[in-house]
Amino acid sequence: MSKNPWDVHPVQALRAGPGFDLSTFDPSATPGWSDDRDDGEERMAEQGARLADLQEMLFAEGRSGGARSVLLVLQGMDTTGKGGIVRHVVGMVDPQGVDHASFGKPTPEELAHHYLWRIRNALPRPGRLGVFDRSHYEDVLVVRVENLVPPDVWGQRYDEINAFEAELVGSGTAIVKVALMVSLDEQRSRLGERLERPDKYWKYNPADLDARAKWPDYREAYQALLDRTSTEIAPWFVVPANRKWYARLAVTELLVDAFERLGLRWPAAEFDVEVEKDRLENS
Ligand code: ATP
Repeated sequence: MSKNPWDVHPVQALRAGPGFDLSTFDPSATPGWSDDRDDGEERMAEQGARLADLQEMLFAEGRSGGARSVLLVLQGMDTTGKGGIVRHVVGMVDPQGVDHASFGKPTPEELAHHYLWRIRNALPRPGRLGVFDRSHYEDVLVVRVENLVPPDVWGQRYDEINAFEAELVGSGTAIVKVALMVSLDEQRSRLGERLERPDKYWKYNPADLDARAKWPDYREAYQALLDRTSTEIAPWFVVPANRKWYARLAVTELLVDAFERLGLRWPAAEFDVEVEKDRLENS
């Protein structure tokens, strides 16, 4: 399989544009892809190799003084497969080129700072693929649903986040924002599995059921986030995640696309290649 098998590329099929409506979204769908799972896995392996090459080129650019980076922002409720994306998609590239950060409940030190403080501290270094497992968007999701700050405080964060991301893009960071969505039924079955299997107990957190009980509130918060922060320079991609193979394939394609848009080249040699060949010959 080397010709493009997509009917519609995920960049178009999954982008949250104006009027995007989560209430009619189908988390079992495979937008843009009409082939089967085996074909999807074959394509993923091919594009994984491409992603690894592109990431190495970005790393090489960073080593040669380049300032650019790529940042993958992963959001999703519990069990949507954020960890699986990190393992299976980001895991296809050289780990030395990856800056990974996950954002849980803020520590007292983090709470004493502006909410973007811990985010700024975790931004990818030049040449790196940064991965945020949860992100500054928790500050308009859990914080909004749980009333952790008053509405006039979280309410001004959407514009602030847009301005922050514009600053990042302006300084050379391409941002790929992915919201993973599973259905309530699928979440029940994934949580159930965590309670059945001793090798999955560690992933189970009784508090996950509290968030599950607030599903409509979270959906409203996600809808607001998509309405207000899916911008031209940093759009959201809403990825149906009931089928893990599809979600992983789609995120791989979104990353390959973001890297390709950088127009990367291998850095030129900073030495005289012919002279070095002669020296090697004579050494
Ligand atoms: P995950 O559910 O992402 O796999 P986890 O269950 O191991 O992770 P952590 O990563 O330690 O848990 O923390 C995730 C939790 O932290 C989520 O419940 C999330 O809503 C919460 N959280 C993240 N950011 C904030 C924030 N700014 N304010 C309050 N809670 C937050």
